[in-house]
Amino acid sequence: MTRNVCYSIIIPVFNEEAVVHETYRRLTRVMQVIGEPYELLFVNDGSRDRTAEIIEGLAESDNCVKLLDFSRNFGHQIAITAGMDYACGDAIVIIDADLQDPPELIPQMIDKWREGYDIVYAQRSKRKGETLFKKWTAALFYRTLRVLTEVDIPLDTGDFRLIDRKVCDAMRSIREKNRFVRGLVSWVGFRSAAVEYVREERFAGETKYPLKKMLRFSMDGITSFSYKPLKLATYLGFIISLASFIYLMISLGQRLFTNNTVAGWSSLIACLLLLNGVILIILGILGEYVGRIYDETKNRPLYILRNQEKADSSKLKGVT
Ligand code: UDP
Ligand code: MG
Repeated sequence: MTRNVCYSIIIPVFNEEAVVHETYRRLTRVMQVIGEPYELLFVNDGSRDRTAEIIEGLAESDNCVKLLDFSRNFGHQIAITAGMDYACGDAIVIIDADLQDPPELIPQMIDKWREGYDIVYAQRSKRKGETLFKKWTAALFYRTLRVLTEVDIPLDTGDFRLIDRKVCDAMRSIREKNRFVRGLVSWVGFRSAAVEYVREERFAGETKYPLKKMLRFSMDGITSFSYKPLKLATYLGFIISLASFIYLMISLGQRLFTNNTVAGWSSLIACLLLLNGVILIILGILGEYVGRIYDETKNRPLYILRNQEKADSSKLKGVT
């Protein structure tokens, strides 16, 4: 007996009342053309607007719509993780709610998946409607990450991707707290392929990634996959010691063999400030890692659902 394949689409939403209707409409249109069972798994990441109500309304009239409702805002990466925990499909697509990732690319991703690739990631060939600042910082971040880490994280990809059931299961076994999902997907391995797309403008509303969240996100990316920043202390320590040694020799020479003894207050202060700055930076880096170790030891659940029972029962039912 051959079983129909089915798809899960994970859509994290945070204050997206202006777009969910349109997202639902476009996703439904695409999935109905494919003509196989699917579920639209919305993960409400503690929205403070009407997002959850709207999705509940959609779920009443459409069995394919499911809602995981977080008790508060746990963050985009955790929302995706919850989606993976509850997704029932053979192939799972992760997509942003704001339609920057075009749902119309999904059939192409599914084709690649049918060719035998376990991960099909969507690579941005162009980004529209985003500030230069965002584009530059993103480009810089992905390139820094590439230099700093050993895991091969493809350049210019977001979380918009399709993963096979087995990749999803592997991802579910990883329970680390400060998650950088796209890195973890690369870390679990498997065969991957890319499809290119043009990143559209946000359909409505504004970005839910202010600078503070972006910084935290990039810190998570780097610290989860690299110890190199910690080694910075060692390298800098060596370089500064060497420089100080040379400087010491020079001033000693001046003292012994010349008459112009150095007054040197300003250079002293400059060196002091510089060294203190370096030490504080290194302490900060250490703090980032120690904080993350602390998060792990507390062993708290990654997220808490407001509608736990309903979510469990819809998972038992699987994809309709
Ligand atoms: N998002 C979320 N929790 C957050 C921030 C964002 O679930 O704390 C969702 C958001 O609703 C959207 C996706 O993550 O579906 C990407 O966010 P956004 O489009 O605002 O980020 P950008 O594209 O500007 O980087
Ligand atoms: Mg967006």
